Amino acid sequence: MKIDHIAIVVADLEATLAIYTQSLGFEQIYRETIADQGVEAVGLQAGESSIELLRPLDEGSPIARFRGSAASKLHHTAYRVDDLPAEIAALRARGVRMIDERPRKGAHGNLIAFIHPASTAGVLIELCQQEHPA
Ligand code: ZN
Repeated sequence: MKIDHIAIVVADLEATLAIYTQSLGFEQIYRETIADQGVEAVGLQAGESSIELLRPLDEGSPIARFRGSAASKLHHTAYRVDDLPAEIAALRARGVRMIDERPRKGAHGNLIAFIHPASTAGVLIELCQQEHPA
């Protein structure tokens, strides 16, 4: 499976974005609010993959509590799949616990589903399917 993106939850989106773009040289490819996940997301190109910086919209939300007092923290890794419903079915058949048993809309026009960290040795994993593959 190819890595689609690595998502990092941050405390200060503007400051972190400045570090990634101005100091580290990443190029910003999208910026959008994902109301469904309660975050503002900025995508940065990293080869064929991307880094996604996430700012919680609500500092009382689970994702903000997960980040805690850290300036930034790895939130999830995301892998690209061609047929998300088939992947979900195959994972469930192998006893994998899903957070999303049906695909839902994610960032950047993708369909996504999260696997429960209880089934991934602790790091949250997202599967994503491009709705309109290039
Ligand atoms: Zn993601």
